[in-house]
Amino acid sequence: MSISELSKAWADHNRRFANFCFVYPVISRRAKGLSIGINCTPNCACSYDCIYCQVNKKNTSAKVPSVDEIISELKEILSIYHNTKLAEHFPNIEEKNRILRDIALSGDGEPTLYPYFAELCERLKEIPEIPKLVLITNAAQLEKVQSFNGEIWGKLDAGTDEWLNFINRPAKGIDIASIENNLKFAVSRFPLRIQTMLCEVQGKTASEMEIKNYAQIIQRVYETNPKNLLSVQIYSVARPVAENTVQPLPMEFLENVKKKVEEKNSNLTVEIF
Ligand code: SF4
Repeated sequence: MSISELSKAWADHNRRFANFCFVYPVISRRAKGLSIGINCTPNCACSYDCIYCQVNKKNTSAKVPSVDEIISELKEILSIYHNTKLAEHFPNIEEKNRILRDIALSGDGEPTLYPYFAELCERLKEIPEIPKLVLITNAAQLEKVQSFNGEIWGKLDAGTDEWLNFINRPAKGIDIASIENNLKFAVSRFPLRIQTMLCEVQGKTASEMEIKNYAQIIQRVYETNPKNLLSVQIYSVARPVAENTVQPLPMEFLENVKKKVEEKNSNLTVEIF
């Protein structure tokens, strides 16, 4: 199989699969294989309005699923996976790249804003076929995660309120200090990966001062509980975004940010995607 088939699959995060409404399979670059997503917020509920968001936010009146509906669809797709390895759905992808790596709470909005989030986390513990559970979150409500049997992948795109407000456009009351506290809360209890989107917006990029502050936040989160901060994942835009003033950044920029983080945290794994 050519690399371009895999690259095409990585770029395709279509959330529709057969007649399923709340679960969807994707070939994920960061999961390094197949990931089954759970879309518990099809109504696009989110406390951020990221300038690079790839979600089509037209469906704000979509029905929010019950926990039973999500669990039922999840069990069904897991059964299909065990029977077919989803070969028909991903005909150009080799079986070794279709190995199920994780179940990800992700989707069209922010999973922690799902009204039955705590109950869903409890019910997911009862499904033995789940190889790993991942919560992909903007990190703005992490205090809601009291019990979770997996890894948390929390967003940190900024080091100052100025850049946070420019890039992530959070709801009132969310600032960079609260995000740092939330990441510290998470790392003290759960395995954590920090995810950072870097992009050029309206011709602007994060300044050296911004990157310095960002690396310092990561350092403080790391020092809170080094063994639980598994990695920092840095990436740029790969799929079409809502605002056409958003552009990907060259690899040199990402490498420079990686270097700044590593200078402050020499034992931390920093990956570029
Ligand atoms: S946190 Fe995620 S879903 Fe929410 S606006 Fe940002 S990119 Fe979109």
